[in-house]
Amino acid sequence: MPSYVILEKCDGCKGQDKTACMYICPNDLMVLDKEKMKAWNRAPEMCWECYNCVKICPQQAIDVRGYADFVPMGASVVPLRGSEDIMWTVKFRSGMIKRFKFPIRTTPEGSAKPDGGFGEVTPDLASQCLYNEPTALKLDALPTVKK
Ligand code: SF4
Ligand code: SF4
Repeated sequence: MPSYVILEKCDGCKGQDKTACMYICPNDLMVLDKEKMKAWNRAPEMCWECYNCVKICPQQAIDVRGYADFVPMGASVVPLRGSEDIMWTVKFRSGMIKRFKFPIRTTPEGSAKPDGGFGEVTPDLASQCLYNEPTALKLDALPTVKK
C-alpha cells in the first residue's frame, strides 16, 4: 500500500527547494504543493512501500498503509530514525506496544566505506560476479554447475 502524507504534520520542510521526501524517494514520487506547503505522493500506484520517505521525514508526517498480513487493521508500524539507529514502534491490535532499536551505521555520520572494507577492487565489467565477489563470500571462485 502506498505512502501518504499526514497533512497536519507536514510543514513542507519549511519551503526548501527540495524537501526531504522528494530527495529520498527512489521513484521520484513525492512533490510539494508550494502554495499549501504540503507534500503529496503523486503516483501512489508506483510506490513500492520502501519506507524511505517515512524514515527521513523530520516531522513524522508520512505513513504507509501496510498490507494486512504485515500490519493488520488496528495495528501500526512506525519508524523513528536517529543519527545512529532506528527505532521501530510496533503496535499490535491488542494494544500491546513493542519497540525494536537497530543500529543503522558502521561509520561516523557523513562518511561511508564504499568498498565495504574489502579494499580496492578493479571491477571486471564482463564478469557476472557482483562487486567483491567471490572475496566477500570467502571463496576463491563462485561455484559453477558441473556439466
Ligand atoms: S519530508 Fe515530511 S515534512 Fe518534509 S515535505 Fe515531506 S512530508 Fe512534509
Ligand atoms: S515509500 Fe518509497 S517509493 Fe513510496 S513514496 Fe516513499 S520513498 Fe517513494
